[in-house]
Amino acid sequence: MVCKNCGAELKDGDKFCTSCGAQNDIPTPTEEREIPEWGLKALAFRKKVRKVYLVMLIIFAIWAVLEKI
Ligand SMILES: [Zn+2]
Repeated sequence: MVCKNCGAELKDGDKFCTSCGAQNDIPTPTEEREIPEWGLKALAFRKKVRKVYLVMLIIFAIWAVLEKI
């Protein structure tokens, strides 16, 4: 969570910014669901895998074209 006023990092549940003292909106449970660390890692891994898959597809396509020549 980041202060909307000054951009300082805040702990989850902090009602006031420790840096500038501005009041921060408390996120509703449905709006800002906490993602566990392993969840974030899994998401990053998925993105990486997707990238690798795309690169492999492109390489395969180039290889297929070159084979025909
Ligand atoms: Zn602030």
